[in-house]
Amino acid sequence: MNQPLDLTVMMYHYVRDPGDAAEAGSGIPGMSVHAFEAQLDTLSRQHTFITWSDLQLALSENKPLSSSACLLTFDDGICDHYINVFKILRDRNLSGLFFVLDRFEDRGLILGHKIHFLLAKLGLPGLRGAVWEKLNSAQRDQFKQAEKRYQRQYPGTSIDSRINLLKAMLQRDLSIEVNPLLSDLFEMHVGSENETARSYYLNLEQIREMRAGGMHFGGHSHNHPWFDWIDSDTRRAEVKASAEWLQQFDSGPWAFAYPYGGLSDDSAHILERHAFVAAFTTKTQLTHSDPYSIGRLDGEEMAQESQGYA
Ligand SMILES: [Zn+2]
Repeated sequence: MNQPLDLTVMMYHYVRDPGDAAEAGSGIPGMSVHAFEAQLDTLSRQHTFITWSDLQLALSENKPLSSSACLLTFDDGICDHYINVFKILRDRNLSGLFFVLDRFEDRGLILGHKIHFLLAKLGLPGLRGAVWEKLNSAQRDQFKQAEKRYQRQYPGTSIDSRINLLKAMLQRDLSIEVNPLLSDLFEMHVGSENETARSYYLNLEQIREMRAGGMHFGGHSHNHPWFDWIDSDTRRAEVKASAEWLQQFDSGPWAFAYPYGGLSDDSAHILERHAFVAAFTTKTQLTHSDPYSIGRLDGEEMAQESQGYA
């Protein structure tokens, strides 16, 4: 990269309406289809949309991007992207970059998604209580210590902050211990985890159809861990798994999105070795000087803020 790149990158997760095929009665909220389309309208007035191929050429050959360039990205490879997003982008002749998890059949849900389903079913105190019940005394000590530590970051002054506190503990400190416990709770309160996962994540057929419709795909790891929480060997395994998954339908070079935006010093090196030429964070940033640390704006958050002011 010769000089910093000016680029607005939008990041999206769930795009769904209550009761539609993507939400499927789960109760998991997301950005509404209407809000998503309205945001595309606004963005199209302010920006020129580019594709992953445009960005890749800008990075590899220093080909300039259009002024006010904007790239649309979507994380987690969830069914919302096939059911709701793909059609909207295709109708507008736009392309998106979709970061998918490598999810082979019967691998179930990643920890973070189990939490989404269980939070929707049990609520925050319900989920916290159900997890606590299942922990042994050593794990309860670990839980209490982690809770104390994260309280500085998430003081619990809002429901979001309390949810983020529980998520941080479960997705970092206690991730190994609670992953199987959450699977048990999922079977008890929601249903078959594997069956849910099969319709929840994009399958290869849907990915191929989306690719034929002009969409691009990138990696997002296998287990969706915080990269600053796991060790270097695990990071390598996560990136390698992503590369192997993508190879099935795309020869690269690829982009990567760090799970939860978590960063580590060796990530760029590991990614580079596996044919990833760019990586996206969750840092709010519009000028980027490192291709392995491209910031993004959260579309859903922006829509909520503009609604609040309306
Ligand atoms: Zn993710």
